[in-house]
Parts: sequence; structure tokens; C-alpha cells
Amino acid sequence: MISMDLGEGLRQAIAKLTRATIIDANTIREFNKELQKTLLSADVEVRLVLNFTKDIEEKALKSKPPAGLSPKDYITNIVYDELVDLVGPTYTPKLARQRILLMGLYGSGKTTTAAKLAKFYQDRGLSAALICCDVTRPAAYTQLETLAKQANVAFFGQEDGKDAAKIVKLGLEKFKDKQVVICDTSGRNALDDYLIKELRDVAEAFKPDEKVLVVSADTGQVAGKQAREFDKTVKISGVILTKMDGSGKGGGALSASAAAQAKVMFIGTGEKLNNLERFDSTKFIGGLLGVPDINSLITHVQNAIKESNMNPEEMEAEELNFETFYSQLKAMGSMGPLKNIFGMMGAADVPKDMLEQGEEKLKKYKVIISSMTIEERKNERLLHDHKRISRIAKGSGTSEKEIHSMISEFNKMKKVFGNIKNDRGFRKRFMNMT
Ligand code: GDP
Ligand code: MG
Repeated sequence: MISMDLGEGLRQAIAKLTRATIIDANTIREFNKELQKTLLSADVEVRLVLNFTKDIEEKALKSKPPAGLSPKDYITNIVYDELVDLVGPTYTPKLARQRILLMGLYGSGKTTTAAKLAKFYQDRGLSAALICCDVTRPAAYTQLETLAKQANVAFFGQEDGKDAAKIVKLGLEKFKDKQVVICDTSGRNALDDYLIKELRDVAEAFKPDEKVLVVSADTGQVAGKQAREFDKTVKISGVILTKMDGSGKGGGALSASAAAQAKVMFIGTGEKLNNLERFDSTKFIGGLLGVPDINSLITHVQNAIKESNMNPEEMEAEELNFETFYSQLKAMGSMGPLKNIFGMMGAADVPKDMLEQGEEKLKKYKVIISSMTIEERKNERLLHDHKRISRIAKGSGTSEKEIHSMISEFNKMKKVFGNIKNDRGFRKRFMNMT
């Protein structure tokens, strides 16, 4: 399980949005404040936090929430998109011949991950081998050798070797017939000139297909800076986040993959060799945001966007009919009570009981129109047919009388609409609401 303060904070910030009925600059500002607090306390880099929230603000205010979508779902979807931008999409491991170079600071989990990866590919039918290029830590050789035995994969190293590049060359020679060769390297407390040179030499000799930075979930604020330094030394192609099972805040790991602009490939979820999962962005981010079924939320958002793709220009040209009326009604539903809508239109002081009556009526209209066929919605004359009226009444659980009264009110409205069609100011306000 991914347990982190980051997720908790994100979920709380989003939960607060439930109370919002509209998305405006204020809603977004409040939300972003929460988000910044959360991200910073989870050790996400400051500049990343600022970019992140700026992007969210721009996206959220650029387009109106589509009809039928709550502010909460709308913003959640935007945050989701932004997080995917940070960590990359779900990773599909290449099940093919390849060389993987692992890098990272001391204790980040490189050696353990090297063995996990070898097992991962071997379990999927590829022959795998491990090379120990950690020439700094005395026990490194024995550690990887033991893990290689556990994973039942080939191993090469030199117990007293000092020349990492030379070990790589010998190892590659030995593992010519292996499909996946993984190279474990030395770590440091910080990336110093000595390690920079060693990593460059190893990369030069190994010619890796993937240059992977291993980052532990409990790396703090410095993770982004570290990732940039490694990236400068040897261009990083991917990131593996380890210790995601721990109580780490996770923000450092996010910062690292964002800073290196590299995809997250796998996550480590424990010390055992099978505690490695390929990175699944929907699962990971869905978990963070507290939306386990984030895919269905995304589909919901996309459908709403499709449905509300009626832009004001089209509306101007379009006749007011039951179909266009229906989409307005649906849009209103998502904007909250009529009171707010009138408020936005600058007519806040419409009497309350009139509003309540109106709301009841509009709800009924929505139900009635939903029982009409598209043709009937677009061509009111079809409704002169008694059989149709009777069918719609049955379908919507209303009476024929109610339907006739709706049609007559609708025709009155159409006249008013015709008059205000020439009032640009009103029309604009009206269209902007949808
Ligand atoms: P290296 O110095 O980068 O090679 O790090 P190691 O592979 O030696 O790992 C350092 C410690 O972290 C070891 O005790 C590992 O068992 C532990 N470790 C590595 N990956 C994970 C993980 O995903 N979850 C947990 N809980 N521990 C891990
Ligand atoms: Mg190691």
C-alpha cells in the first residue's frame, strides 16, 4: 500500500471542494493554497509546487467546467492530468534484450532493486544477469552475489576490483548470451567528482538502454536537486521509486522524477525480491487522490466535455428547441440551485418562492424532455401527435396535461428568448453559464 502524508493532504484538499458550487478564481485560489501546504510538507520541491499550482489555476480557469460535472470532479481531473505530467503514464516494461544501469545515492535501494529487476525479467521468460560495479562499499559484492543466488540469476563481479569500467567489460563479455543485463553501481552520500567520473566511465563501457535513477520515497526536499545532478552526469531515462511501503512522504520521489523529466518505471514496496511493481499511474495517482476508480472519473469527465461541446457561437445560430433547452437545463443542474444562477446573471433578488417553484418546474421539464426522442426535441411539431404525448407522459411519469403546459410555457419563453437574442449583454451572460 502507498501510505503517505501527501495522499492524505491531497484528499483533504479535494474533499473541501465538495462544498464549492462554482469554479471561480476564488475557489481555485483556496484550493491551490491547500495544495501548496500539502505538497510542501510532503517535501515536494518549492519550485515544482509553484509551477504545479500555477498550471492548475491556468487549466481550471481557461475552460469552463463542462455541464453535468461537479467542481470537485472537474478539479480532480485537472490535478490528475498534472500529476501524470509529473510522473509519466503507466509503464509497460519492454520484454526484450536490454541493458539497464542503476544509479543512486547510498542506501537508496540500488542493489536490492537490481536483484528484483533481474527476477522480474527472468520470471517473464528472459534470461537475466547481474553485474556488481559497486567498487566502493566492501560488502557490496557479497550482497549482490547472495541476492543473485536467491533470484536464481547469473552474477559477475570482482571482490577486490577497483576499476568499475573494466568489471563491466568483463561482465558483458561473460553475459553475451543473456537477454537482460543489469549493472549495479557505487553509491555515495552525495554525488562527488569521483563518483561522477566513475558513473560516466561505467555508462561509456556498458552502453545501457535504460539509465535508471533509484530514489527512496523518504528522500526529502533534496531529491529534485539530486536528480538534476545525476541527470547532468549521465542522462537519466527512468526512475525507480523504492520504499514506497514505508512511511515516507513521497514528495521527494515525485520531485526527483519531475526534475529528471524521466518516466517512473517501477516502485519498490518491500525488502523481498518480489516486492517490485511496475508503475501504474492510474493506480498510484488514484491512490493519492483517494479516487480508486480514477478511470471512471476520467471517462465521466470526457463524456461531459463531449456533451457540452456546444459553444456560444453555435448556440447563437441555433434555434431554441427542446434539445438546446435540455442541454441548458442539464448545465444549470451542475451549477447548483437557481438562486446562484440568477445571482450570476445579476438578478439575485428574485423572490425565493418563485425560485423554488421554478426549480421544481425545471426539474420536471428535464425529466419530460429526457423521455422525448431527439427528433421530437428538435421538431416541436411532432408533438402535435397525441400518441407521442401519451408515450412521453408514461415514460417520464408525468401527465399529458403537464406536458401540454410545458409546451405552452416553452413557446412563451421562446418569444422572450427571441427578444433578448438581440441583447448582447444578456445573451453573453446566459451563454457563459453553460
Ligand atoms: P543501495 O545502497 O542503494 O544499494 O541500497 P540497498 O539495496 O542496499 O538497500 C538499502 C536498504 O533498503 C536495505 O536494507 C534494503 O533491504 C532496503 N530496501 C530496498 N528497497 C526497499 C523497499 O522497496 N522497501 C523497503 N521497505 N526496504 C527496501
Ligand atoms: Mg548497493
